[in-house]
Amino acid sequence: VFILAIESSCDDTAAAVLCNDQVLSNVVANQLVHTQYGGVVPELASRAHQLNIVPVVDAALQKAGIHKEQLSAIAFTQGPGLMGSLLVGSSFAKSLALALQIPLLAVNHMHAHILAHFIAEEGFKKPTFPFLALTISGGHTQIVRVDSYFDLTILGQTTDDAVGEAFDKSAKILGLPYPGGPLVDKYAQLGNPKAYKFTKPKVPGLDFSFSGLKTAILYFIQKQKLLDPNFVTENRNDICASIQHTIIAILMDKLKLAVTETGIKQIAIGGGVSANSGIRKAVKEAEIKYGWQTFVPKFEYTTDNAAMIGIVGYQKYLLEKFETASVVSKARIQF
Ligand code: ATP
Ligand code: FE
Repeated sequence: VFILAIESSCDDTAAAVLCNDQVLSNVVANQLVHTQYGGVVPELASRAHQLNIVPVVDAALQKAGIHKEQLSAIAFTQGPGLMGSLLVGSSFAKSLALALQIPLLAVNHMHAHILAHFIAEEGFKKPTFPFLALTISGGHTQIVRVDSYFDLTILGQTTDDAVGEAFDKSAKILGLPYPGGPLVDKYAQLGNPKAYKFTKPKVPGLDFSFSGLKTAILYFIQKQKLLDPNFVTENRNDICASIQHTIIAILMDKLKLAVTETGIKQIAIGGGVSANSGIRKAVKEAEIKYGWQTFVPKFEYTTDNAAMIGIVGYQKYLLEKFETASVVSKARIQF
């Protein structure tokens, strides 16, 4: 089975070709236009997708060595995401599926961040059902119970900001460019995680909250700058390490609670923030510390990519979960 997958939910245009659960190509075109605005500008994102989609799909087919006539089906991101961005991918996928007379597969982006663990990759084992997924990304923070490929239950999620936003907004407060998450990670590796203490929010159950932490960081930095205008530049590494340490502690506390409540000890992390070196390390350490079995995705399947859309597409293809061209894109969507 050859699946062409297209992802265009936010600011990256991505296409991949899969042969069953193997990735033959995985192409991502990042949109650099947003950097100067300090965040994603939806109208610009949608226009950039229109420019990128044909060359990105062509590149994915070429790298895979597959002619479009060989494709079995086309998978695309139905949501959640920016409507203008989603529509570019869905319109393209619908037209191509219609022209080639092959099935169309609609994929939930958050479902894909989780099932990315089922891509066949040397040196990576796949989780078995049931397992717990911690999905941490730019727009979401969720703990999901996964009982089968298509039986997913959200056990907890953020009540305000996503963890990716916590990283990006903290970075902004420190004067770092967008998206700041990877930079906080980089500087954190050089700093002392115990240099500054930030209070963890008290949120009941398996839900999360990150907006209070962001405000606490803002006030702390403002106060320190009054005392010493060079505070941030002189202590950047320690500040980043302390922020990251707090965020990781919040995530690990909730994971521990989720394991206690469900009795499930298989943990798979996913989404853009699962690229974070500190989180990857903390999750791996939990194997020995708590006896969990943990799954950390290959780096290229953490931030947005089309290979993860393709693996969900492949599972849907096997069950013939096809869509007609009347399927609609959704900015918000549940599993
Ligand atoms: P969603 O998946 O919720 O729709 P999205 O697709 O925009 O959101 P992703 O691409 O999955 O988000 O993740 C992007 C987020 O991951 C950004 O907030 C970015 O700062 C963060 N991120 C990426 N790498 C790292 C890192 N090494 N450390 C911390 N955060 C990171
Ligand atoms: Fe994402």
